[in-house]
Formats: sequence, C-alpha cells, structure tokens
Amino acid sequence: MLRFRILARDGDARRGLIETAHGSLETPGFFAVATRAALKGLDTESARRAGVQALICNSYHLAVQPGPELVAAAGGLHRFMGWPGVLATDSGGFQVFSLQHGQVADELKGRRRLPPIEDPLAAVRVDEEGAVFRSWLDGSMHRFTPENNMELQRALGADLVFCLDECTPFHVPRQYTEAATERNLRWARRCLEAFSGGAQALFGIVHGGVYPDLRRRSAAGIAELGFDGFGIGDCLGETKLDWYGVVDLVRPLLPDDRPRHLLGVGEPDDLVEGALRGIDTFDCAMPTRLARHGQALHMGRPRFRIDLARSARRGEDGPLEEGCDCHTCARFSRAYLAHLLRAREALSVPLLAEHNLRFTARLLERVREAISAGRLRDLRTEVLAAA
Ligand SMILES: [Zn+2]
Repeated sequence: MLRFRILARDGDARRGLIETAHGSLETPGFFAVATRAALKGLDTESARRAGVQALICNSYHLAVQPGPELVAAAGGLHRFMGWPGVLATDSGGFQVFSLQHGQVADELKGRRRLPPIEDPLAAVRVDEEGAVFRSWLDGSMHRFTPENNMELQRALGADLVFCLDECTPFHVPRQYTEAATERNLRWARRCLEAFSGGAQALFGIVHGGVYPDLRRRSAAGIAELGFDGFGIGDCLGETKLDWYGVVDLVRPLLPDDRPRHLLGVGEPDDLVEGALRGIDTFDCAMPTRLARHGQALHMGRPRFRIDLARSARRGEDGPLEEGCDCHTCARFSRAYLAHLLRAREALSVPLLAEHNLRFTARLLERVREAISAGRLRDLRTEVLAAA
C-alpha cells in the first residue's frame, strides 16, 4: 500500500507526501541507512528525535544474518528493530554484485576467466535465473532469484521494497552494462509477477549506467511495467554532473504521479540538486559514516564538514553548529565532543550521528518549504555558496 500526493511544485521539483502502512514520509525526504537492521551508532528513538522519517535496511545482509525466519517470528522488521515508522528494504543487489565486478572487468579485458562457482574464491556469479553468492559469514552458498528475493522481502515486512537488480560499476565496458540492463528489465518483470502486494509497495529501478540510450530504454521499460515508485540506480557516473544528466534524462520518462528515489545519494548539495530535478526521496549512509570518523555536517566549508579533532575551534564552549536544534547541540559543547573523540570514548559516535541526521532532516525541511514558496533555486544558491 502506498499513496503519493503532490502538494506543491517549483519547476521540476515537487513537495509531496508518501503514505504507507506505517505512517507517512514528507518529500523530498530521506531514508537513513540501517543496513543490518541498525543505524550505525544510534538507536531508533534517537533517530526519530533527530527528525528521521524513514529507514532502509538491506535484505541481502538480513538474509545471511539473522535470516528472514527469525525476523518474521519476531513480528517483522519494524517490531524487531523497534522502528514503527516508514521502512524500506533494498534487494541487496548492490552488495551481491559489487563483489564480483573486479572479476567481470578482468574477464572482459581478457586477463582472466571468471572462476566457476565451485571455486572457493568465487564470491558470486550472475546468470539469467539469478545470482549465486557466498555468505561472508560462514561460506555457505545462496541463490537470489527475483522470485525468492520478493519472498525474502515479504518475510522481512518493510513498507517499500525494491526489485532485485544487478548494479554495474563505472569501469565495466558498455557491452556488460547493456546486457545487465536488459536482464534487469526481465528480472523486474519477474519481481512484479512474484510480488504479492498487500501492505507493501514495490519500486522498480532504472538502470543503464552512464549511457543515455540504455537509460532511456531502461526507464521506458520500467515505466511500462508499472510500479508503485521508481528508483534511479546503477552506476550514476564519476561526477555529480553525470548523475544530474542521468536524472534529467530519465525524469520525463517516468510517470509523474509516482515517487522517484535516487539510490545512494545524500550530500547536502546533492539533496538540493536532486530535489530541483524532481527527486522525491534519497538514501545515504554518509551522515552516520561521518560520525564514526569524527566529522560533523554543517552549512559551511570545507564541503559541509567539520573535522572535529582538527578544527581550530575544537576548544570552544559553544555548540557544534550555531542554530542547530538537535539534542547534541542543545546539550554538549564542541570542546566536550572533541574531548570524547580524542579520548576515544564511544559516546562521540551517537552524539555526532544524531547531529548529522538532524542536519540532513533540517535541510530537507528547508527544501520542502522552499518548494512551497517557489524559491528552491534561491536555496540552492545559498547552499552552494556556503560550502
Ligand atoms: Zn546539532
């Protein structure tokens, strides 16, 4: 079940509301990444306090550990991880396939052959039926097909689920991306046929790498199949300009009345640029990953980051970011946070993660307000000038 309403428009940008069986998500909105049913460094209640509206977990990781049977017996993923809100699962295609591409690239360049599945070094192999991969946990072999991936994601019970796909990286030749794009379309059809609906919504994913004709072909094919929403995935290129081009190319080919999700993108300037190009939702592990490296997001230089341990202002009594309304900034000083980092106290991670997630949520609140006011381009100018 998914309802998407568009509440305001500003050029190609739109402000909207996605309603699911577990509440709603204001768009443009953000899915915080909880790969293994956990945000790295903080619990779900702190995330809610920071304004996180939705989480995304990875079905490949959860299939290996703890396994879908255990999650289903525990009442489904929402209950298992203590998150009553909007929840998505990725198919796991990115994780499965990212393991094998070094081998594929080498094979296509004629340097060596892909090892057979029996080879203990073979992480994965892709064929028409699906993908075989070796568990990083115990070495056991698993096969993902579009059909059993839909079953897996149903057992996990997220509100939004993504089709099984192969995600091609930048360095593979066009012929590989072309074959994968066609196969992903066939897999998308099989996912749709195997998908049982009910409380869940299914998102198709647009592929085609950096090749405009393949992107057009994939977008038209996915749109024709008809999904509850559409992800823009696969290799988005090497630079930001590459993915701007991909989104501009794909957007007119997707149905206007369905949400569009940009996979794996979430830098502050990306959120504004994506919203300007009609993206409704984003996901990115960056806010929590930065926290583990002692970095805080702020509206400033360099690149929206404060490297707390090296900052010239690390001894200051004031908050991490002036004007931030997060729990961390309300309660703790820069000096204290820098001390935690230098003393290697684990508490630095949840405090920085909560600030970074709040920063992201606040920026998207500003994006939504700017769309309603018809001023998103002004906000972009302001954000780009800050960093
Ligand atoms: Zn803060």
